[in-house]
Amino acid sequence: MLNNIFNFTISNTIDYVPEQIIDFFSKKYVSGPSLSDAVKTTIDLNSKGMMSTIDVLGEFVQNEDQTIFFRNECIKVLETIKEESLNANLSLKPTQMGLAINKALCYENIRKIVRRAKELDNFVRIDMENSPYTTDTLKMYKLLREEFPGHVGTVLQAYLRRTIDDIDKLSDKNLNIRLCKGIYVESYKIAYKNPELINENYIYCLEKLFDNKAYVGIATHDEKLIFHAMKLIRKYNLQPNEYEFQMLLGIGDELRDFILSKKHRLRIYVPYGKEWLSYVRRRLKENPNIIKTALGLKL
Ligand SMILES: Cc1cc2nc3c(=O)[nH]c(=O)nc-3n(C[C@H](O)[C@H](O)[C@H](O)COP(=O)(O)OP(=O)(O)OC[C@H]3O[C@@H](n4cnc5c(N)ncnc54)[C@H](O)[C@@H]3O)c2cc1C
Repeated sequence: MLNNIFNFTISNTIDYVPEQIIDFFSKKYVSGPSLSDAVKTTIDLNSKGMMSTIDVLGEFVQNEDQTIFFRNECIKVLETIKEESLNANLSLKPTQMGLAINKALCYENIRKIVRRAKELDNFVRIDMENSPYTTDTLKMYKLLREEFPGHVGTVLQAYLRRTIDDIDKLSDKNLNIRLCKGIYVESYKIAYKNPELINENYIYCLEKLFDNKAYVGIATHDEKLIFHAMKLIRKYNLQPNEYEFQMLLGIGDELRDFILSKKHRLRIYVPYGKEWLSYVRRRLKENPNIIKTALGLKL
């Protein structure tokens, strides 16, 4: 009871907690302020048998120059991955590339990055943000996979009621999808709110994706979903190079070990950059228990 009140209070007030306090928790979820930090983290993950996807923190960019800065930084990530022979790819956010200000600019920015990924034989994952951007993100993905097949993928969110239909619409060509629950606050009209229903839809969508021969990044730290995913992998007799598990940096060390011990491939999402505040706030809202543990509270 006390625990629920604590979690509810933290989730609803975290946006007002000063940056200096949130910074204390950023070390858990973010590799550091610069690309060299993400490289160090990736070298460590690679040495332990894991892959990474590097993310330059920054979103909802409001001017063109900034989108160019992020585009160049993403290209630098791809070039560094090649130079350092890392087992890693790139994740980026559409609003970091300008989706909230100019769709054509955003598309051109992402296109240049994916083109560079193709030249370097790498891969770009377009993250999925909140629902006003879903349709445009999927449209960009469809165009880019035509031009650069095998070098681009996107994300679908199991909490959205539309996701099962999106899978049908996207399945006319090779599909590369990260499937996650979804992190943004969405209305009842478009999103499932009941956690059990979100899980049920996750499994439903995952099976549909496997049925349609998609490559799936199974992105979750939910042990129940991982259990069901492993069952489906057996049912569809998938080989380890036909899917991967994905987790966020700083979450679920024991689950990581379990997944690796079963010889599945695992990719860790490694964010870096100075614009860590929104990302870390989202992580803390998602799991207020982190704050409780840090404060040494036993509720
Ligand atoms: C690789 C990756 C990429 C993602 N990309 C996107 C994206 O593009 N768009 C999007 O909307 N969402 C994205 N997400 C976030 C995702 O939608 C969920 O919000 C997040 O993964 C938590 O859901 P869960 O499946 O782990 O289940 P939950 O039920 O939320 O968590 C299961 C368990 O994991 C642990 N856990 C979960 N969150 C935390 C945390 N913050 N701190 C500590 N422990 C925690 C807890 O033990 C919890 O009980 C991504 C997630 C991953 C793993």
